[in-house]
Amino acid sequence: EDNELYCIGCGAKLQTEDKDKPGFVQASTLKKYTEDDSKELLCKRCFRLRNYNEITDVDVSDDDFLKLLDSISQKDALVVNVVDIFDYEGSVIPGLQRFVGDKKILMVGNKVDLLPASVNQNRLLNWLQQKSKENGIKSVDQIMVSAVKGTNVDKLMDMIEKYRDGKDVYVVGTTNTGKSTLINRIISANSDIKDLITTSRFPGTTLDRIDIPLDDGHSLVDTPGIIHRYQLAHFLNAKDLKTVTPKKPLRPATFQLRDGQTIFVAGLARLDFLNERTNVTFYVNQGLPLHRTKTVNADEFYEKHLGDILTPPTDIKEFPKFKSQIFSAHEKSDIVIYGLGWVTIPAGTKFKAYVPNGVHVSIRNAII
Ligand code: GDP
Repeated sequence: EDNELYCIGCGAKLQTEDKDKPGFVQASTLKKYTEDDSKELLCKRCFRLRNYNEITDVDVSDDDFLKLLDSISQKDALVVNVVDIFDYEGSVIPGLQRFVGDKKILMVGNKVDLLPASVNQNRLLNWLQQKSKENGIKSVDQIMVSAVKGTNVDKLMDMIEKYRDGKDVYVVGTTNTGKSTLINRIISANSDIKDLITTSRFPGTTLDRIDIPLDDGHSLVDTPGIIHRYQLAHFLNAKDLKTVTPKKPLRPATFQLRDGQTIFVAGLARLDFLNERTNVTFYVNQGLPLHRTKTVNADEFYEKHLGDILTPPTDIKEFPKFKSQIFSAHEKSDIVIYGLGWVTIPAGTKFKAYVPNGVHVSIRNAII
């Protein structure tokens, strides 16, 4: 067809169907353009890059994603992987080590500000190292930071200097881990480099990169965020995501439970207590309602109140059904619902946890 349009930035064919695929523009933008063809049209990705220095995300199933990792694997570089310690499973990049080969990987656990101050930092670092190992990542080192507060960002820069051996640095991460916030922190901490950002493209892809020059002629490269479909974030609308996402350190909420009792965390999770009597402590965002019911009534309660008392979600039509899993704690443990928070349960207790199908839940030694 001769009326097909192409982005003047990346050359991708313009389309209005899928905002995560190359060449996406809003239908309204496209319409305006066709009414006034003196303008040159950029896809949303290129528009954001040019105007806000913001690179657009890529789907893990996108071919360009593999090409991006492949072009990193061809380089002699340090890879810095930013993960959200609050949504670990949603922020792990599948096959990262395999794709980047023998590159050194430095793991950065972001959003440490969300944890109560009583959390032992060494324990956290061990946890991150352990998690990396489980996911096939041989991390050269790990560090906890807060991109929002600036905590440990200097230390991170020192660590990067230490491990990069005079080479380039590629910062990779899934969306929502705070990678952009962290990059902006790094840039403003070195305010003299602010104007020197250069942008270019990963070879053979429509994907942009931002090159931030380092002292020795090498660069720190910001890469597109990688979209992971099974982050809790993807099941929630923007308003609900705000309700769920903590901004301040988590404040513990303790319940004394008897057997046959259930606690709902809004409409997002359900915990059935399978023992006699015990205390459990929830670490979730403060605004989220915690509801206690009898387990025998819990199914009916959920059915009836999802979307009103049990909200978020506000939009219940597309919301995935619960799936359940039983957890037994041999020692004091946390049942972690990635993206939502966790529940600390005592040694020797047993719980049935329900989360929306597609959201990860796991058990770990209690962090507090
Ligand atoms: P990106 O998609 O990885 O680039 O993530 P963004 O930088 O856009 O951040 C995603 C969300 O996480 C935003 O709501 C940020 O405010 C929040 N965020 C980023 N860094 C931190 C952090 O260090 N602490 C907390 N509490 N939130 C953060």
